[in-house]
Amino acid sequence: MAYIEPAPIKDKENPFESMMSRFHIAAKHLGLNEEVYNVLKTPDKQVIVSLPITMDDGSIQVFEGIRVIHNNILGPSKGGIRYDLNVTLDEVKALAAWMTWKCAVVDIPYGGGKGGIRCNPRAMSSGEIERLTRAYATAMKDVFGPDTDIPAPDMGTGQREMAWLMDQISRSRGVTTSGVVTGKPLVLGGSLGRLEATGRGVMVSTLSAMQKLKINPYNAKISVQGFGNVGSYAALLLEERGSKIVAISDITGAYYNEKGISMKEAMAYRDENKGTLEGFEGAEKMDSGDNLLFLDVDVLIPAALEDVITMYNADKIKAKLIVEGANGPTSAKADDIINEKGITVVPDILANAGGVTVSYFEWVQNRLGYKWTRDRVNRRSDRIMKSSFDVVYETALKYNVSMRIAAYIVAIDKVASAYKYRGGF
Ligand code: NAD
Repeated sequence: MAYIEPAPIKDKENPFESMMSRFHIAAKHLGLNEEVYNVLKTPDKQVIVSLPITMDDGSIQVFEGIRVIHNNILGPSKGGIRYDLNVTLDEVKALAAWMTWKCAVVDIPYGGGKGGIRCNPRAMSSGEIERLTRAYATAMKDVFGPDTDIPAPDMGTGQREMAWLMDQISRSRGVTTSGVVTGKPLVLGGSLGRLEATGRGVMVSTLSAMQKLKINPYNAKISVQGFGNVGSYAALLLEERGSKIVAISDITGAYYNEKGISMKEAMAYRDENKGTLEGFEGAEKMDSGDNLLFLDVDVLIPAALEDVITMYNADKIKAKLIVEGANGPTSAKADDIINEKGITVVPDILANAGGVTVSYFEWVQNRLGYKWTRDRVNRRSDRIMKSSFDVVYETALKYNVSMRIAAYIVAIDKVASAYKYRGGF
């Protein structure tokens, strides 16, 4: 192909480069047309705003807010908003592109976007976070919209921030606009099942992969990195299906119990302990949080941050199966090492797509003005997750590639054929 190879990856990979190198491999397998390749390698739109906020002590601090729309050929762009000190434009660009691929993998009519504000929400009061969120919503009012770009929660944001965003956009339009944001509280048009949807999708992906690898869920030992929305619900739902969660971790460290950790107890402890596991007595604290990654378990679920499995530590992983709850937890350079070790990876753009699937259901319900039962939401999202897994698995066999590259192939093929039909350059 004539298009230019992405820049070689440096020692410290950045998420955008990681995303691009997989995109490149999948594009080659597909024989992707050069023009479409060039369109897809750059985001459609990148908006950066400056947000001056009055802090509780009366001082004014200036924050940077980012929103990237990678692509919207399949529908309005969809993607979360991250509040974290490490937010960078490159990270948001990668996350936005992953959203394009993710929505295409699970076949929902959305493009991909992502947003972020570089801030430390743990060090801010609720009032400061509210002012920041409302300022961001106001600055992005021409970007966000139920037919254009629809935010959702990501790291550091949740129902509370989505309610403020929805309220601020609704005020600026003079009409309640529920469908502009998903992941809202139930009373504001949130969907039953959304809270646990990403973890539930991770559970469905894990069980589907266990079936292929002939791992019996009743004898399976699992470790989970990150005990937030994704990690804790994935762990709870897998425990309910008979697996033993032997290790969990969060920002305060990793906790291990070979007999299995009760997820109900761990979640209750976290909820009463300012959101962390510090001091949790149902397991022993490990020397280092990272050691959780190298335990002799059947399944490892990274559900915290990107780039935790890298070329420097991938050879130490003993799990037979990695199911990526987080976005981008495995760097591109670690892929080859993991593949050579014969470890199966259910990639992020498939494994954690349960969240965006139920976000889509929330948006559909908002537009219909009708609420579905939890049962209907779960049944439909389980069906989508299972059938998407099967399509990616079959594609991996057909092209003789990893499930990660197969997922990119499925996604890029769908987006590219939308360009073929729509044209218009
Ligand atoms: P969250 O803020 O609810 O939880 C993050 C968890 O990771 C917390 O327990 C935190 O303490 C922990 N953590 C942070 N740094 C850590 C470290 N160095 N080691 C171990 N644990 C650490 O976030 P979330 O919504 O659960 O998102 C987690 C990941 O899943 C992110 O990559 C996010 O992009 C991805 N994701 C989330 C959703 C969703 O619906 N929430 C959907 C798809 C993907």
